[in-house]
Amino acid sequence: MDLFEKLTILSDAAKYDASCSSSGSSRSNKGGMGNGHLSGICHSWSEDGRCISLLKILMTNRCVFDCEYCLNRRSNQVPRASFTPEEVVDLTLEFYRRNYIEGLFYLLVSILLLMKPVKG
Ligand code: SF4
Repeated sequence: MDLFEKLTILSDAAKYDASCSSSGSSRSNKGGMGNGHLSGICHSWSEDGRCISLLKILMTNRCVFDCEYCLNRRSNQVPRASFTPEEVVDLTLEFYRRNYIEGLFYLLVSILLLMKPVKG
């Protein structure tokens, strides 16, 4: 799976986080700037009132649990993907250099659930 496919899956899976309503939206401006649909760009506000763009993604949408309300539940038949830490860093820096984003909204909840218990 290439990086764009992962980005498509994991930005879409992050859009249900209630902290931001703009990521994964159907808003489009016909190819110009400000399209929040595919790449998971969400918006927040700085202390001085500026609107800032953030890349909002999940690290993974793989989960061992099956919470009824959740898109990422084990029994839901959706495409699954995971980023490596290096991929997240590269994506963030490339988007930042191109002036697409000013920061990263990174959701780690699911990956914590994948960790195996420590034997001891
Ligand atoms: S544990 Fe979290 S990610 Fe996993 S199914 Fe439940 S709500 Fe979704």
